[in-house]
Amino acid sequence: MSEQLKIKDGVVVSLEYVLQLDDGETVDASDGDALVYLHGHGEIIPGLEKELAGLTIGDSKKVSVSPSEAYGEVDMEAFEIVPRSMFPDDLELFEGLELSLRDVETDEPFEAAIAEIMENEVMLDFNHPLAGETLHFEVTIMAVRPATEEELAHGHAHGPDDHHHH
Ligand code: ZN
Repeated sequence: MSEQLKIKDGVVVSLEYVLQLDDGETVDASDGDALVYLHGHGEIIPGLEKELAGLTIGDSKKVSVSPSEAYGEVDMEAFEIVPRSMFPDDLELFEGLELSLRDVETDEPFEAAIAEIMENEVMLDFNHPLAGETLHFEVTIMAVRPATEEELAHGHAHGPDDHHHH
């Protein structure tokens, strides 16, 4: 039997995870569809990546990541007030609603959440939904393998049958 490959730069890791916030709310989980990433290439948040180094198949670990090593602190500049009339009449607006919008000038897609609804205006929050949150991961390592040359050249993991490129 060869020694189990440990997580280090240049290996592809498959892991199952559950992500909870301080209040215990589960906001994300792999749920049987393991996350696959190339270690050491910034594919996952830095605070999680560094805690996974040295683990191997079958290992489980709880990792808590502060906002500065996850999605950042809430940026108070990243709010904008827009007229309510910019939304379709039949769209029910509520605080916390996440919107996929398109910039009218550049046509670039972007995400925003409704932070506050006023009489004729809406305050949009462009922060990442998890900005300002400490993230509590529970991870289990499902597989570790050497990356292919192509993966190393691209700087990301390739799935078994997906070759889409970002
Ligand atoms: Zn690629």
